[in-house]
Amino acid sequence: MAHMVQDELDVIDAIELPAPGVHRRGHLRFSHPMLADWAWPYTVIRGAEDGPHVAVTSGVHPAEYPAIEANIRFARDLDPRQLRGTVVSLPLVDVPAFLDRTPFVCPIDAKNPNRFMPGSPDGTFTEVMNDAIFRSVMSRADALVDLHGGDMVEALVPFTIYATGADDEIDANSRAMGLAYGLPYLVASSPVAGGSGGTTIRAAADAGIPAILTEAGACGLLTEPETQQHEAGIANVLRHLGMLDGDPTPPLTPILELARMTAVPAPAEGMWYPSVVVGDPVREGERIGHIGSIFGDTLAELASPSDGYVLYITSSPAMRAGGLTLVIGS
Ligand SMILES: [Zn+2]
Repeated sequence: MAHMVQDELDVIDAIELPAPGVHRRGHLRFSHPMLADWAWPYTVIRGAEDGPHVAVTSGVHPAEYPAIEANIRFARDLDPRQLRGTVVSLPLVDVPAFLDRTPFVCPIDAKNPNRFMPGSPDGTFTEVMNDAIFRSVMSRADALVDLHGGDMVEALVPFTIYATGADDEIDANSRAMGLAYGLPYLVASSPVAGGSGGTTIRAAADAGIPAILTEAGACGLLTEPETQQHEAGIANVLRHLGMLDGDPTPPLTPILELARMTAVPAPAEGMWYPSVVVGDPVREGERIGHIGSIFGDTLAELASPSDGYVLYITSSPAMRAGGLTLVIGS
């Protein structure tokens, strides 16, 4: 059997598609002067046959290593001869944060890239970077899979989120991709006043692109089962879209669909002691933890705001007043 055809090409501002059947890697750079010192490794796999164009991103948050590793492996191993359509892989969206290991935020301007999508060419570094990446990678795709997990101080149970409220067809396509990905929980995130906008999936849905944000892995650890969960999920989405042969692997347990996520803020500054673990079912009013002072006194008890499941918990005890303690999916 012939070898996979591979080439390399460094590009500026846009990823040029190779000929059908070619696996290409290189560095993506941008002409915006603020981004001049940086380069983003990319891989593009152009299938031998035509089909949809899917962008697979990770490293929007820097220490979500199973997500990053799955993207690296999947892009490296995807054979264009097996593929219908095109996959563009960008394993590190926030390259400066990856190198500096700054949880959640870009070290250059301390902004969380997943609150400033689709970015702006006139903002600070994160907004400029987002704008460049959204235009060159995300906006060109027919579908977006944005891989995440728990950053350095986050424990979580694997789940997928999709953004609703764009239009019914895009919502339905995003939901179907989320079901295909196969993680145990699937959350529909509707736009809420005062909620966290500017996410990759919200920006994609607003641009007419079905999108999912997938979470597996925790606490800044590179773990093999979660890496494989992500790899299987990407393959399942491509099967669902008809880009790879076969059907998505059915999940081991039925996927539980949830309609919203509620963040529980810390009522006081101090030490955070959760009394639940990720995946626990909780009832409204049930005790979920407490905040202690640095003298060891209890400052506040926390109760669940609703019935649901604990999707993620801040695993670090260090807590500001108003900081995120955990998130309930209901
Ligand atoms: Zn993340």
